[in-house]
Amino acid sequence: MAAAPGTSTLRHGVSLWCPQSPALRRVNLLPCSHLSTSSFRRSFSVAASASSSFANENREFVIVGGGNAAGYAARTFVEHGMADGRLCIVSKEAVAPYERPALTKGYLFPPEKKPARLPGFHTCVGSGGERQTPEWYKEHGIEVIYADPVTDLDIQSHSLRTSSGKNLKYGSLIIATGCTSVRFPAGIGGSLLGVHYIRDVADADSLVSSLERAQKVAVIGGGYIGMEVAAACAGWKLDTTVIFPENHIMPRLFTSSIAEKYEDLYKENSVKFLKGAFIDKLEAGSDGRVAAVRLKNGSVVEADTVIVGIGAKAAVSPFEAVGMNDSVGGIQVDGQFRTRVPGIFAIGDVAAFPLKMYDRVARVEHVDHARRSAKHCVEALLSIHTNPYDYLPYFYSRVFEYEGSSRKVWWQFFGDNVGDVIEVGNFDPKLAAFWVDSGDRLKGVFLESGTPEEFGLLPKLARLQPIVDKAKLRSASSVESALELAGSSIQAEASA
Ligand SMILES: Cc1cc2nc3c(=O)[nH]c(=O)nc-3n(C[C@H](O)[C@H](O)[C@H](O)COP(=O)(O)OP(=O)(O)OC[C@H]3O[C@@H](n4cnc5c(N)ncnc54)[C@H](O)[C@@H]3O)c2cc1C
Repeated sequence: MAAAPGTSTLRHGVSLWCPQSPALRRVNLLPCSHLSTSSFRRSFSVAASASSSFANENREFVIVGGGNAAGYAARTFVEHGMADGRLCIVSKEAVAPYERPALTKGYLFPPEKKPARLPGFHTCVGSGGERQTPEWYKEHGIEVIYADPVTDLDIQSHSLRTSSGKNLKYGSLIIATGCTSVRFPAGIGGSLLGVHYIRDVADADSLVSSLERAQKVAVIGGGYIGMEVAAACAGWKLDTTVIFPENHIMPRLFTSSIAEKYEDLYKENSVKFLKGAFIDKLEAGSDGRVAAVRLKNGSVVEADTVIVGIGAKAAVSPFEAVGMNDSVGGIQVDGQFRTRVPGIFAIGDVAAFPLKMYDRVARVEHVDHARRSAKHCVEALLSIHTNPYDYLPYFYSRVFEYEGSSRKVWWQFFGDNVGDVIEVGNFDPKLAAFWVDSGDRLKGVFLESGTPEEFGLLPKLARLQPIVDKAKLRSASSVESALELAGSSIQAEASA
């Protein structure tokens, strides 16, 4: 596969993106040294302007981005009675925030299996809150500006400009712009008709319309997006080939042994794998649509639809001036999601934040972090708490979940995948894996097809990191007894 430009990855699913000096859009600002970092919340007085033509003069809080983090931030403002007439969301998308992970899951169910469609998965539908439809925002007095991306930030005058030319003043600004998909260059066919990248609902709609007439599908990339899309294509009974440069799927998290079990399931569903394969180019047919994927070794995979899942990069433009983190990419924030510019915050995928547990800076592209960072940031901004964010990394995936599927897959991972791996179970349906460091501390834990109680144990184990008996864990006769053993090491440590 052609290397994703400027990207490198960590094995535990956290992206490390090294920006290649993206062209700065026009940003007017005071040098940061002139700005006080002691005050974090701006007075609302900056939002009033004699010359403004705002629909709503009370734009005390502005969120840029209309994704998961924005939706959960809005919910937190509402919970604290601080949204009505004060909050504005400016989004590039034409729809209200929704649960993005659904796009490669329920959204891609085969047509006869009742695929999820909006408004069915607006944010909070899966986390016990009110479903945040466009009406919900109206009812709560939140102004949402749709399909109008922010193109410029002027730090000095506390204002944003949108692509339609709106000038928006803010009191406090929360940047929640997420990521964009890494694309293949147009020069190697990356923009051909029939080549898809999935980041938003418009992308997913476009993919569905291709799948409706597809016969041969090539999925490029063996990570989350690639494997979820491949499972969907198997559900549509399409001839599907997954192509990636590594030796096995999900290389950042899975060991080869774990991966093998999932790969076997895909093969049972007629999905083919081309491993160790590097993309040379995507070739067009006589109609201009993609017709084939040519590999560097000269071989050709015919495909009328290609889905590219080779990573994502933080959507930092036009906010570079608030301070970037060059090692993980994204906007640098502290434990309360404050950038170095007073009154400007960043949350979700775009934020490079201190991962307290492991004493390192991380950028995490996962919905759980989007939700938690949003809540934490808004409550810090409203001075409800001053605690530093203390995130426990958590990853999950769910595939083959459509009605009538012969085998549903649902796994969760908590913690850090460092150290030796002890694997228990045969994937029939359960499978567990424990990452244990050289001091016998449990650092990370993975479970497939657990019960709610078993899944509930995982964050406790990963957070408390008990010392475990590796030999006993290795010889556990079942996933249940391995989890019981690991759980009892928490109690043993507590009573020691
Ligand atoms: C297809 C897919 C499947 C996924 N599956 C999973 C999963 O199974 N589990 C999991 O944990 N995570 C998953 N994720 C990741 C998860 O969705 C993200 O971590 C989460 O959405 C991040 O929330 P966010 O608000 O930071 O960014 P996003 O949800 O991406 O929202 C960013 C928003 O900002 C908008 N925007 C960008 N730039 C501008 C601008 N200049 N002006 C205005 N608006 C702008 C974007 O259009 C978008 O609406 C998946 C992601 C994708 C794309």
